[in-house]
Amino acid sequence: MKTPLRHRNITLKRLVYDTYQFLRAQSFISCHFGRQYHPSLTCAEIDITYKCNLKCINCNRSCAQSPSDIEMPVADIAAFIRESIERKIEWKRIRILGGEPTLHSGIFDIIDLLIEYQSRYNPSVRLVLGTNFFGSRVHQVLKKMPDAIILKSTLKSSRVNLFKPFNVAPVDTVYNRFSDYTCGCRIIEECGIGLTPSGYYMCAIAGGIDRIFGYDMGRKQLPDESDALSDQMSAFCRLCGHFGVQWPTRKTKKSKTWRLAYGQYQGK
Ligand code: SF4
Ligand code: SF4
Repeated sequence: MKTPLRHRNITLKRLVYDTYQFLRAQSFISCHFGRQYHPSLTCAEIDITYKCNLKCINCNRSCAQSPSDIEMPVADIAAFIRESIERKIEWKRIRILGGEPTLHSGIFDIIDLLIEYQSRYNPSVRLVLGTNFFGSRVHQVLKKMPDAIILKSTLKSSRVNLFKPFNVAPVDTVYNRFSDYTCGCRIIEECGIGLTPSGYYMCAIAGGIDRIFGYDMGRKQLPDESDALSDQMSAFCRLCGHFGVQWPTRKTKKSKTWRLAYGQYQGK
Protein backbone atom coordinates (compact mmCIF):
# COMPACT_ATOMS: atom_id res chain seq x y z
CA MET A 1 0.00 0.00 0.00
CA LYS A 2 1.24 3.51 -0.86
CA THR A 3 1.87 5.76 2.13
CA PRO A 4 -0.23 8.90 1.66
CA LEU A 5 1.36 12.30 1.22
CA ARG A 6 1.10 14.34 4.41
CA HIS A 7 -1.49 17.11 4.46
CA ARG A 8 -1.18 19.78 7.16
CA ASN A 9 -4.33 21.72 8.06
CA ILE A 10 -2.70 24.14 10.47
CA THR A 11 0.48 26.02 9.56
CA LEU A 12 1.90 29.31 10.80
CA LYS A 13 1.64 30.75 7.28
CA ARG A 14 -2.09 29.93 7.15
CA LEU A 15 -2.72 31.49 10.58
CA VAL A 16 -1.03 34.71 9.48
CA TYR A 17 -3.07 34.67 6.30
CA ASP A 18 -6.27 34.08 8.30
CA THR A 19 -5.56 37.24 10.28
CA TYR A 20 -5.22 39.20 7.06
CA GLN A 21 -8.42 37.69 5.63
CA PHE A 22 -10.29 38.64 8.82
CA LEU A 23 -9.22 42.29 8.46
CA ARG A 24 -9.96 42.26 4.74
CA ALA A 25 -13.50 40.95 5.40
CA GLN A 26 -14.52 43.88 7.60
CA SER A 27 -17.48 45.66 5.98
CA PHE A 28 -15.81 49.07 5.87
CA ILE A 29 -12.92 47.53 3.86
CA SER A 30 -14.90 45.15 1.63
CA CYS A 31 -17.30 47.92 0.62
CA HIS A 32 -14.31 49.75 -0.93
CA PHE A 33 -12.33 46.85 -2.35
CA GLY A 34 -15.03 44.23 -3.02
CA ARG A 35 -14.99 40.58 -2.02
CA GLN A 36 -11.65 38.91 -1.56
CA TYR A 37 -12.60 35.40 -2.77
CA HIS A 38 -14.63 34.20 -5.72
CA PRO A 39 -15.85 30.68 -6.47
CA SER A 40 -13.59 28.90 -8.88
CA LEU A 41 -14.09 26.13 -11.44
CA THR A 42 -10.39 25.22 -11.33
CA CYS A 43 -10.52 22.67 -8.52
CA ALA A 44 -13.33 20.61 -7.03
CA GLU A 45 -13.87 18.75 -3.78
CA ILE A 46 -16.45 15.99 -3.60
CA ASP A 47 -17.77 14.84 -0.22
CA ILE A 48 -18.96 11.37 -1.21
CA THR A 49 -20.15 10.31 2.24
CA TYR A 50 -20.50 11.56 5.80
CA LYS A 51 -19.68 8.12 7.23
CA CYS A 52 -16.50 8.19 9.27
CA ASN A 53 -14.76 5.70 11.56
CA LEU A 54 -12.98 8.35 13.66
CA LYS A 55 -15.48 10.98 14.81
CA CYS A 56 -12.95 13.67 15.63
CA ILE A 57 -13.63 16.52 18.01
CA ASN A 58 -14.56 19.67 16.02
CA CYS A 59 -14.95 17.76 12.70
CA ASN A 60 -15.84 20.29 10.02
CA ARG A 61 -18.30 17.86 8.40
CA SER A 62 -20.11 17.20 11.74
CA CYS A 63 -19.28 13.48 11.50
CA ALA A 64 -18.82 13.31 15.27
CA GLN A 65 -21.36 15.93 16.32
CA SER A 66 -24.20 14.47 14.18
CA PRO A 67 -23.10 11.16 12.64
CA SER A 68 -24.73 10.11 9.38
CA ASP A 69 -24.55 7.24 6.90
CA ILE A 70 -25.41 9.46 3.93
CA GLU A 71 -23.69 8.40 0.70
CA MET A 72 -23.65 10.34 -2.55
CA PRO A 73 -25.20 8.22 -5.32
CA VAL A 74 -22.62 7.15 -7.92
CA ALA A 75 -24.97 8.68 -10.52
CA ASP A 76 -24.19 12.13 -9.07
CA ILE A 77 -20.50 11.65 -9.87
CA ALA A 78 -21.43 10.54 -13.40
CA ALA A 79 -23.56 13.69 -13.79
CA PHE A 80 -20.68 15.88 -12.51
CA ILE A 81 -18.36 14.35 -15.09
CA ARG A 82 -20.93 14.65 -17.89
CA GLU A 83 -21.52 18.32 -17.13
CA SER A 84 -17.79 19.03 -16.88
CA ILE A 85 -17.26 17.54 -20.36
CA GLU A 86 -20.26 19.32 -21.89
CA ARG A 87 -19.15 22.67 -20.48
CA LYS A 88 -15.49 22.04 -21.35
CA ILE A 89 -14.38 22.59 -17.77
CA GLU A 90 -10.83 21.32 -17.40
CA TRP A 91 -10.39 20.65 -13.71
CA LYS A 92 -6.82 20.91 -12.45
CA ARG A 93 -7.57 18.88 -9.34
CA ILE A 94 -10.50 16.83 -8.08
CA ARG A 95 -10.36 15.75 -4.44
CA ILE A 96 -12.50 12.89 -3.19
CA LEU A 97 -13.36 13.48 0.45
CA GLY A 98 -15.87 12.72 3.19
CA GLY A 99 -16.32 11.80 6.00
CA GLU A 100 -13.96 8.95 5.24
CA PRO A 101 -14.38 8.34 1.50
CA THR A 102 -13.04 4.77 1.58
CA LEU A 103 -16.18 3.78 3.55
CA HIS A 104 -18.50 4.64 0.64
CA SER A 105 -20.05 1.35 -0.51
CA GLY A 106 -19.40 2.25 -4.17
CA ILE A 107 -15.92 3.76 -3.77
CA PHE A 108 -14.38 1.76 -6.63
CA ASP A 109 -17.26 2.60 -9.01
CA ILE A 110 -16.56 6.27 -8.26
CA ILE A 111 -12.81 5.81 -8.71
CA ASP A 112 -13.36 4.00 -12.04
CA LEU A 113 -15.53 6.85 -13.36
CA LEU A 114 -12.96 9.47 -12.40
CA ILE A 115 -10.05 7.55 -13.88
CA GLU A 116 -11.98 7.06 -17.11
CA TYR A 117 -12.67 10.82 -17.20
CA GLN A 118 -8.97 11.49 -16.65
CA SER A 119 -7.76 9.11 -19.34
CA ARG A 120 -10.34 10.09 -22.00
CA TYR A 121 -10.93 13.80 -21.42
CA ASN A 122 -8.52 15.44 -18.99
CA PRO A 123 -5.11 13.72 -18.68
CA SER A 124 -3.63 16.55 -16.62
CA VAL A 125 -6.22 16.48 -13.82
CA ARG A 126 -4.85 15.38 -10.43
CA LEU A 127 -7.16 12.91 -8.75
CA VAL A 128 -6.60 13.07 -5.01
CA LEU A 129 -8.24 10.99 -2.30
CA GLY A 130 -8.16 12.49 1.21
CA THR A 131 -8.22 9.76 3.87
CA ASN A 132 -7.80 9.63 7.62
CA PHE A 133 -5.59 6.51 7.06
CA PHE A 134 -7.02 5.04 10.26
CA GLY A 135 -8.02 1.44 10.90
CA SER A 136 -7.88 -1.88 9.07
CA ARG A 137 -11.05 -1.38 7.00
CA VAL A 138 -9.69 1.84 5.54
CA HIS A 139 -6.29 0.22 4.89
CA GLN A 140 -7.94 -2.71 3.08
CA VAL A 141 -9.56 -0.31 0.62
CA LEU A 142 -6.41 1.80 0.22
CA LYS A 143 -4.37 -1.31 -0.66
CA LYS A 144 -6.53 -1.73 -3.77
CA MET A 145 -6.42 1.93 -4.83
CA PRO A 146 -5.11 2.32 -8.42
CA ASP A 147 -1.85 4.24 -8.97
CA ALA A 148 -3.73 7.02 -10.78
CA ILE A 149 -5.14 8.13 -7.41
CA ILE A 150 -2.90 10.32 -5.26
CA LEU A 151 -3.44 9.64 -1.55
CA LYS A 152 -3.31 12.51 0.93
CA SER A 153 -3.82 12.33 4.67
CA THR A 154 -3.38 14.18 7.90
CA LEU A 155 -2.43 10.68 9.22
CA LYS A 156 -4.79 10.83 12.18
CA SER A 157 -4.37 8.38 15.01
CA SER A 158 -7.11 9.55 17.38
CA ARG A 159 -10.23 11.69 17.69
CA VAL A 160 -8.21 14.50 19.19
CA ASN A 161 -6.51 16.72 16.62
CA LEU A 162 -5.49 20.33 16.35
CA PHE A 163 -8.36 21.92 14.37
CA LYS A 164 -9.88 25.34 14.03
CA PRO A 165 -12.99 25.50 16.24
CA PHE A 166 -15.43 24.79 13.43
CA ASN A 167 -18.49 25.02 15.71
CA VAL A 168 -17.79 28.52 16.99
CA ALA A 169 -20.10 30.47 14.70
CA PRO A 170 -18.69 33.91 13.87
CA VAL A 171 -22.20 35.27 14.20
CA ASP A 172 -22.03 34.36 17.91
CA THR A 173 -18.83 36.36 18.47
CA VAL A 174 -18.58 40.05 19.29
CA TYR A 175 -15.46 40.66 17.22
CA ASN A 176 -17.25 39.68 14.00
CA ARG A 177 -20.00 42.27 14.35
CA PHE A 178 -18.63 44.22 11.36
CA SER A 179 -17.71 41.19 9.25
CA ASP A 180 -18.97 40.87 5.70
CA TYR A 181 -19.68 37.15 5.38
CA THR A 182 -19.95 37.30 1.60
CA CYS A 183 -16.14 37.66 1.60
CA GLY A 184 -15.80 33.94 2.39
CA CYS A 185 -12.35 32.56 3.17
CA ARG A 186 -9.23 31.24 1.45
CA ILE A 187 -10.73 27.71 1.29
CA ILE A 188 -12.86 28.87 -1.65
CA GLU A 189 -9.76 29.43 -3.75
CA GLU A 190 -7.48 26.76 -2.28
CA CYS A 191 -9.99 23.92 -2.42
CA GLY A 192 -12.41 24.94 -5.15
CA ILE A 193 -16.08 24.28 -5.68
CA GLY A 194 -17.74 21.69 -3.42
CA LEU A 195 -20.03 18.91 -4.57
CA THR A 196 -21.88 17.28 -1.66
CA PRO A 197 -24.93 15.05 -1.22
CA SER A 198 -26.97 18.32 -0.96
CA GLY A 199 -25.62 19.83 -4.19
CA TYR A 200 -22.94 22.31 -5.21
CA TYR A 201 -21.55 25.01 -2.92
CA MET A 202 -18.70 27.52 -3.00
CA CYS A 203 -16.85 25.05 -0.73
CA ALA A 204 -17.64 21.51 0.37
CA ILE A 205 -17.70 22.57 4.02
CA ALA A 206 -20.82 24.65 3.32
CA GLY A 207 -22.64 21.52 2.13
CA GLY A 208 -21.84 19.88 5.46
CA ILE A 209 -23.24 22.91 7.30
CA ASP A 210 -26.39 22.77 5.16
CA ARG A 211 -26.89 19.11 6.16
CA ILE A 212 -27.34 20.29 9.76
CA PHE A 213 -29.20 23.58 9.21
CA GLY A 214 -31.43 22.26 6.42
CA TYR A 215 -31.55 25.41 4.27
CA ASP A 216 -31.31 23.28 1.10
CA MET A 217 -29.31 25.93 -0.73
CA GLY A 218 -27.12 23.60 -2.81
CA ARG A 219 -27.17 24.23 -6.56
CA LYS A 220 -28.44 21.16 -8.34
CA GLN A 221 -26.10 21.68 -11.30
CA LEU A 222 -22.56 22.99 -11.63
CA PRO A 223 -22.83 26.74 -11.02
CA ASP A 224 -22.19 29.08 -13.94
CA GLU A 225 -19.08 31.24 -13.78
CA SER A 226 -21.43 34.22 -13.46
CA ASP A 227 -22.97 32.78 -10.27
CA ALA A 228 -21.10 34.46 -7.39
CA LEU A 229 -22.84 32.17 -4.83
CA SER A 230 -23.15 35.20 -2.53
CA ASP A 231 -26.37 33.84 -1.02
CA GLN A 232 -24.51 30.72 0.11
CA MET A 233 -21.59 32.71 1.49
CA SER A 234 -23.91 35.00 3.38
CA ALA A 235 -25.79 32.04 4.89
CA PHE A 236 -22.93 29.65 5.69
CA CYS A 237 -19.79 31.70 6.41
CA ARG A 238 -21.51 33.32 9.41
CA LEU A 239 -21.81 29.81 10.90
CA CYS A 240 -18.38 28.47 10.00
CA GLY A 241 -15.38 28.49 12.32
CA HIS A 242 -13.06 28.75 9.31
CA PHE A 243 -14.22 32.30 8.69
CA GLY A 244 -11.73 34.97 9.67
CA VAL A 245 -9.32 34.11 12.41
CA GLN A 246 -9.86 31.66 15.26
CA TRP A 247 -7.10 29.98 17.24
CA PRO A 248 -6.82 26.17 16.70
CA THR A 249 -7.82 23.91 19.56
CA ARG A 250 -7.98 20.25 20.60
CA LYS A 251 -10.95 20.85 22.91
CA THR A 252 -14.63 20.64 22.00
CA LYS A 253 -15.99 24.10 21.34
CA LYS A 254 -19.56 24.91 20.33
CA SER A 255 -21.27 28.28 20.31
CA LYS A 256 -24.98 28.79 20.93
CA THR A 257 -26.14 28.69 17.30
CA TRP A 258 -24.47 25.31 16.73
CA ARG A 259 -25.74 23.81 20.00
CA LEU A 260 -29.28 24.70 18.97
CA ALA A 261 -28.82 23.42 15.40
CA TYR A 262 -27.44 20.03 16.49
CA GLY A 263 -30.29 19.73 19.00
CA GLN A 264 -32.86 20.37 16.28
CA TYR A 265 -31.12 18.05 13.80
CA GLN A 266 -31.09 15.20 16.31
CA GLY A 267 -34.73 15.84 17.20
CA LYS A 268 -35.85 15.41 13.56
S1 SF4 B 1 -11.42 11.81 10.11
FE1 SF4 B 1 -12.02 13.71 9.08
S2 SF4 B 1 -14.15 13.39 8.45
FE2 SF4 B 1 -13.64 11.83 10.00
S3 SF4 B 1 -14.34 12.72 11.91
FE3 SF4 B 1 -12.16 13.19 11.67
S4 SF4 B 1 -12.14 15.21 10.71
FE4 SF4 B 1 -14.19 14.39 10.43
S1 SF4 C 1 -18.31 28.15 4.70
FE1 SF4 C 1 -16.43 28.23 5.92
S2 SF4 C 1 -14.89 27.22 4.68
FE2 SF4 C 1 -16.57 27.76 3.32
S3 SF4 C 1 -16.04 29.75 2.50
FE3 SF4 C 1 -17.30 30.12 4.29
S4 SF4 C 1 -15.85 30.41 5.96
FE4 SF4 C 1 -14.74 29.42 4.29
